[in-house]
Amino acid sequence: MKLEINNVSKRFKDKTAVNQFSMELEIGQCVGLIGPNGAGKSTLIKIIADILHSDEGEVLLDGKRISKMKREIGYLPQYPNFFQWMTARETLLFMGQLSGISKKRLIEDIPTILAKVGLTGEQNRKVRTFSGGMKQRLGIAQALLHKPSLIVMDEPVSALDPIGRREVLNLIQEIKKETTILLSTHILSDAEEICERFVIIKDGTKIEDTTMTELISRNHEPVVYVEIAPKDHSWIQLVDQLPYVKKTEMMGSKVKITLENIDVHKNMLIQNALDNDVDIVRFEVSGNDTLEEIFLKLVVSA
Ligand code: ADP
Ligand code: MG
Repeated sequence: MKLEINNVSKRFKDKTAVNQFSMELEIGQCVGLIGPNGAGKSTLIKIIADILHSDEGEVLLDGKRISKMKREIGYLPQYPNFFQWMTARETLLFMGQLSGISKKRLIEDIPTILAKVGLTGEQNRKVRTFSGGMKQRLGIAQALLHKPSLIVMDEPVSALDPIGRREVLNLIQEIKKETTILLSTHILSDAEEICERFVIIKDGTKIEDTTMTELISRNHEPVVYVEIAPKDHSWIQLVDQLPYVKKTEMMGSKVKITLENIDVHKNMLIQNALDNDVDIVRFEVSGNDTLEEIFLKLVVSA
């Protein structure tokens, strides 16, 4: 499976919702499409799901136009529309048949899918009585009905309370093991937990395509803060002499240690402390910005 989005643009009257957007997604990836409200996420996702047509550019799945590959894509809309009076099972039967799956196959497959999204015990309850998290899990079940190789989810957790959010995030973690995922959100921390890669969109334009590790290391000083027992303070002189330590500074009871490379050297530093029998009270890897701050900076300044 490979998804290619090539120079896609979409205008609504004089508003450019998506502007020359390109990206590729490989099998097994889980990518977060992140951007503030109005950035163009839903428009782009509808184009990928072939619900909306782009003005320019194309979306290809395994080299073929998306309109020919629809059954390979599962789509969870931002606001799924269910009939409140149907039960969960009836909803899946109805929606599955609408998307062209035979009733026979649906009757075979629905129990497995209900089990996957954790709704087996609720299959005969009416959707009206469902919590937000349960509705969203039913929406995901619907998107999985035709066993797509790619699932696109538009803000799957944004509208949920903390319990619903947890239910759906856990479910996405499971689905991720077998399906390629593209999900949108305006809350970075939602994607942070499940996606390895982030594509940031602002005013319809892609402004960033990066990974969590890259984002953190780019924006953070290679600094650790260490607090040690007073009896071990002489260790700091030793640390100062280490080839990978650039600088040490006392900051109250903590020492701020600037390293050459945080990923490689922080563990060497811990090892050195252990080798010298140093009593570590606190070891903190941190820099200037939280991810949320990095995201805000990107979205506001770019
Ligand atoms: P997001 O999902 O990131 O919040 P959308 O894709 O929904 O953003 O919207 C992107 C921009 O396009 C917004 O300015 C929105 O008002 C506009 N837009 C979206 N759909 C329509 C539409 N059907 N008609 C007119 N403008 C639209
Ligand atoms: Mg949206």
